[in-house]
Amino acid sequence: MADIRTHVNEAGFFEIRMESIGGLGANLAGKMLAEAGVLHSGYNGSNFSSYGSEKKGSPVKTFIRFTVAQREIRSSSPIEEPHVVAVFHESLLRTQNCVAGLQANGTLIVNTTKTPDEISSLTGLESGVVVCVDALRIAVEEKSRVNTAMLGAICHVVDFLDEQAVKQVIADTFGKKYPALVAANMRTFDRGATEGVARTYAPNPQKSRIPFEHPRSPLGYETQPSGGAIINPGNSVLRDLSASRSGFLPEFIQDSCIHCAACDQTCPDMCFVWTNRQDERGRSFQFLEGIDYQYCKGCMRCVTACPTDALRSIRELDGYADQHQVKHPVGA
Ligand code: SF4
Ligand code: SF4
Repeated sequence: MADIRTHVNEAGFFEIRMESIGGLGANLAGKMLAEAGVLHSGYNGSNFSSYGSEKKGSPVKTFIRFTVAQREIRSSSPIEEPHVVAVFHESLLRTQNCVAGLQANGTLIVNTTKTPDEISSLTGLESGVVVCVDALRIAVEEKSRVNTAMLGAICHVVDFLDEQAVKQVIADTFGKKYPALVAANMRTFDRGATEGVARTYAPNPQKSRIPFEHPRSPLGYETQPSGGAIINPGNSVLRDLSASRSGFLPEFIQDSCIHCAACDQTCPDMCFVWTNRQDERGRSFQFLEGIDYQYCKGCMRCVTACPTDALRSIRELDGYADQHQVKHPVGA
């Protein structure tokens, strides 16, 4: 194992920031990683998470600091200039500056089906290492969660972390309550460690570091639209739930639909878009046109409710929601 002292920053810390959304297990992953470093590898470490409302779908940041055993960690501030950023949900790259402050020779790990070059151009990251790992596919195939696949990918790139120690903590954590899940999580970890595709970009500390900025609300005291106008119809802020989805969304197969509205009745976010037309007998009838994916959080209640398999759960590929979106009529 490598020596942690060759990796630390000026304050003596090695720092990891996980960018995630509630429900993907980043908080637990951070705890397990810190525990492995402190209890099994002899480092000093700390971990905490920061989130708003504690619910599925909210953005979550998890921070882990490591240092040598002899050094105290007295900082509990959020990590602004991490050595490693791990993004648990690709759509966060569109809504947040996940790579802000990443060290010029740092590593970005993303749960994605994209290539490192695509992620580099999407994020503007021009130096360091980009690792792309399809953690969602691994988790689905192994019937586990993306967090253990991401832990595997992190341990693979951080050479002073002991993979066996992290696996031991995962086994202890799941073994207490869900012993049947231990084997699946071990496989998920190993696949996360080995199935990532990495590309190194030449370090250019002068040019390429993306500075950290404290997030600010786009609307505030000085920037409110005059008259308090709501500039996104139906929203007080953005009401875009796409980042809540955990990689799957419902596909609408129009030919199989009998327009029974069972999906509409169960959907908590009124995603279904209807139009009134005449049926073949000339009677006025409500027809289901499709799904407004902006409001869809991927709960799949509609898929369960549909009696004709006109809705099915599919893996969300980049651009699918935009291409198949059926917008609610303005004013509806
Ligand atoms: S998955 Fe279905 S029920 Fe759930 S929010 Fe999306 S459209 Fe509505
Ligand atoms: S539940 Fe299925 S069949 Fe009924 S309206 Fe919705 S998509 Fe169509």
